[in-house]
Amino acid sequence: MVAQIIDGKALAARLRDQVRTEVEHFKRSTGRPIGLATVLVGDDPASEVYVNSKRKLSRETGIQDHHRRLPANATQEQVAQTLDELANDPAVSGILLQLPLPAHLDAKALIDRIPWNKDVDGLTTTSAGRLARNIEGLIPCTPAGVMSLLEDEGVQLQGAHAVVVGRSDLVGKPLAQLLLQKNATVTIAHSKTKDLAATTHQAQILIAAAGVPHLIGAEHIAPGTVVIDVGIHRTPEGLIGDVDFNAAQGKASRITPVPGGVGPMTIAELLRNTLKAAWLQS
Ligand code: NAD
Repeated sequence: MVAQIIDGKALAARLRDQVRTEVEHFKRSTGRPIGLATVLVGDDPASEVYVNSKRKLSRETGIQDHHRRLPANATQEQVAQTLDELANDPAVSGILLQLPLPAHLDAKALIDRIPWNKDVDGLTTTSAGRLARNIEGLIPCTPAGVMSLLEDEGVQLQGAHAVVVGRSDLVGKPLAQLLLQKNATVTIAHSKTKDLAATTHQAQILIAAAGVPHLIGAEHIAPGTVVIDVGIHRTPEGLIGDVDFNAAQGKASRITPVPGGVGPMTIAELLRNTLKAAWLQS
């Protein structure tokens, strides 16, 4: 068996086209613009690349760009004040605080200053609580992107056994909740899981979000599994994921590549969240 490749790049482009049309519709029907504020603290080169591509794609979608840049030595109070200004600015529909922050800042406290209806990364305590309680809100972009890929592929989730490797607040936990909402049977594996291969072997849908290059090999995958690779690692040979793609391709029925799988979906979902945030506030 050679796995079919799930094309995240193509789906992300379709979603961005949809958002562009819906942003136009929002502007026409409300007479108001939609704006995304990105807040970058310090000069981490990877963060700068991520923020620039988020800004570029949001502009291309008709979303106004409200970028704020603070120096690496910005204080907790300075970042908090910037977030509060954006929270009170009616032209700003969504606020994204780019992570990681410099180590002297309390990231959790700063994230929680973002009002839930502008929290386009879905990372505030309120957003996490709303997701856990199945109350409408903004969902973290990468898990939302994984769900959109599964839905677009027509993967049956109800009653299926999904194994999520990773339990972070950013990916693993929200993803497990979204899969539960779709009536999947969900197992979460993590760094203290005793026999990872035995656990992942039970999966019909296997999602790798451990942040460990090539953690998942052929021995972790039962024949016919749908494999979604969230991991991203820069190596001299290029980007690789948490899944050993070449090994997995002989076992999986479908698989996302890295790059071109989950990565582009994350930004597309950010744009969708910005549009949704604008409606939540209108
Ligand atoms: P994290 O480090 O916060 O969490 C990793 C999780 O994996 C932890 O819960 C840990 O318990 C688990 N884990 C670590 N080692 C393990 C092991 N050997 N076996 C089983 N579980 C293990 O990372 P994160 O923020 O959730 O990100 C995970 C990966 O996804 C990273 O590679 C990150 O770069 C990538 N990522 C990609 C996107 C995207 O847009 N594609 C977005 C966010 C994160």
